[in-house]
Amino acid sequence: MKFLIGNSHGSRVLASNPVRSSCPVCGNEGTSVGVMTVEHLVTDRDLVRGEKYRTCMNEDCDVVYFDSDNGSTLTKNQVIVPIWFKRGADPKYACYCSQVTEAQVIEAVEHGARTVSEVNAATGAMKNSNCKKNNPLGVCCHKIIQEVLDRQELTKSPINPFTKQ
Ligand SMILES: [Zn+2]
Repeated sequence: MKFLIGNSHGSRVLASNPVRSSCPVCGNEGTSVGVMTVEHLVTDRDLVRGEKYRTCMNEDCDVVYFDSDNGSTLTKNQVIVPIWFKRGADPKYACYCSQVTEAQVIEAVEHGARTVSEVNAATGAMKNSNCKKNNPLGVCCHKIIQEVLDRQELTKSPINPFTKQ
């Protein structure tokens, strides 16, 4: 069964804005990503059929990118790198530019690195920074490393006086 994009009679009208912001497969809200990133990571440029790509961060969904204008999708096997936020990514890169894995970041943290720059110094992450092209989200790898640090901090001190808002 394919997906019903809408029917002719009395169904929801997408107001004046035809943009699809959610994944056509799982319905997860997508995050905008530059077409340059998509073009760089796709296995075949001909697969790129839009300009307004978003990424689906649902770890169980095979869709990596979808176009918010025409709904075309690119799945895990149509991109050249393992996607860190999808289940089963192997290896799970924290920094795509320098090919540093999440495991290496965790190891650095276990050995005492406490800040992003300490992690970078220990692992060599972000040395050849070209995140816009190499990272599937088109953003700096910094965020992923920070996430590992935050997670590590949480497991170490379950009672955090600075509760997040
Ligand atoms: Zn999805």
